[in-house]
Amino acid sequence: PSPRSSVIIIGAGVSGLSAAKVLAENGIGDLLILEASDRIGGRIRKEKFGDVSVELGAGWIAGVGGKESNPVWEIAAKLGLRTCFSDYSNARYNIYDRSGKIFPSGIAADSYKKAVDSAIQKLKGRESNCVEDATNRTDFTLQVEQPIFAFPCLDAKKSNANENILVFSFMHLEFWIEVEPISTYVDFGEREFLVADERGYEYLLYKMAEEFLFTSEGKILDNRLKLNKVVRELQHSRNGVTVKTEDGCVYEADYVILSASIGVLQSDLISFRPPLPRWKTEAIEKCDVMVYTKIFLKFPYKFWPCGPGKEFFIYAHERRGYYTFWQPLNTAIPGIHLKLAADLLLCHQHMENAYPGSNILVVTLTNDESKRVESQSDEETLKEAMVVLRDMFGTDIPDATDILVPRWWNNRFQRCSYSNYPMISNNQVINDIKAPVGRIFFTGEHTSERFNGYVHGGHLAGIDTSKAVLEEMRKDERQNDKQNQNF
Ligand code: FAD
Repeated sequence: PSPRSSVIIIGAGVSGLSAAKVLAENGIGDLLILEASDRIGGRIRKEKFGDVSVELGAGWIAGVGGKESNPVWEIAAKLGLRTCFSDYSNARYNIYDRSGKIFPSGIAADSYKKAVDSAIQKLKGRESNCVEDATNRTDFTLQVEQPIFAFPCLDAKKSNANENILVFSFMHLEFWIEVEPISTYVDFGEREFLVADERGYEYLLYKMAEEFLFTSEGKILDNRLKLNKVVRELQHSRNGVTVKTEDGCVYEADYVILSASIGVLQSDLISFRPPLPRWKTEAIEKCDVMVYTKIFLKFPYKFWPCGPGKEFFIYAHERRGYYTFWQPLNTAIPGIHLKLAADLLLCHQHMENAYPGSNILVVTLTNDESKRVESQSDEETLKEAMVVLRDMFGTDIPDATDILVPRWWNNRFQRCSYSNYPMISNNQVINDIKAPVGRIFFTGEHTSERFNGYVHGGHLAGIDTSKAVLEEMRKDERQNDKQNQNF
């Protein structure tokens, strides 16, 4: 049997590694990290596609330029990670209908504004699921949701920071308008930067791991990190936790920090003995999971418009969310070496130069469309995407030569892209999701009250959880001291 550890951390994503680092810095040398997959990083993951690295998971550092500094931005800056300012303000001027016509910007802007005003009125009236035909073209369904990173607010520009977040469809497109203060933007600033570094966003995690785990030549060789260890059972009591993995190993610890995603917690991957109390399972069920998929398509040459104002294009189709948001990778990835914050504003102007030959388009799908595409073959997805592109750009465009479809939903170690708390939910849900059960502590982006859904949410949650565990350990020590004195 393995020696008993003080703390076992389940999961080596950003939250698990941040938690482990704080523990190590506080003298907990006998920690153990069990990771189900064959790599660290979790939902931060790069993959080689064509000649470049693409980010299948988190791509942006959101929340930059505000009064407080985003800790992930700080780490990225220290490492010199290449990033690029993302500007969404022109997206609404690049809307194509099915016949390849671009909506005149005046009409698009007018209808858009009407739809926004009207949606805000509806929201104020606290009605939900209403359908209105405000202008013959505008058919909007009011829904309240968390923003999607790449296009949270398009042109609504977080102008009214005191209300709520709104999702509505306009000409059958889904738009997200932020009308509620999103803590990320309020605290850290409204800018977003795309990570455009060959080493990947995950480089940040390797560097973090390097600070407390033994590494050599870019590889982690420390036996306190165990990969391919799928935790299936947590048996817990007043005295400790027994962790069982799929390959039949058993590990013992005083405490466990569990960083598996909300999607995993909702699945039956990990069982608890005794079972989790009802307040916990109910809270876990209440949190929605978002699936968000970036599909990458490689072409022999570039046929789409590019240049300033053409960073995104949008496809209008009667089916909501059907291959709607497109982004050329070579325009989305400029190369700047991030050293001085002042450089950041300049990078926008150098966009064309980064990977001029990559000829990659990225299309973003969410929820039902993501799940549908995950369940079909990549060839089918490629065919569908080509029909859409030919609608927009004509029949003589070349076929894509390669496609990459990440599968976050079907991955049993993820089961989601990120958590999405219902708008009207009270803080009790997130507090219950975060609250420990005996010696099992919960962490991960879904436990971050202010920043759930984001990399910095995961990072800060990991730090918080490990501090809570350290506090418990100190309490144990004090109690032991007292008992010893009594003897
Ligand atoms: P994870 O990264 O999921 O880490 C949990 C780890 O636990 C995983 O490695 C998993 O393999 C492991 N695990 C699960 N079950 C077990 C088990 N039973 N036993 C052992 N190990 C287990 N955030 C941003 O800030 N900006 C973005 O632009 C952005 N875009 C995104 C785009 C996509 C497509 C996705 C998927 C996410 C995006 N996010 C973005 C969110 C961000 O990636 C996450 O919030 C963050 O990475 C979550 O970190 P975590 O540590 O909480 O969870």
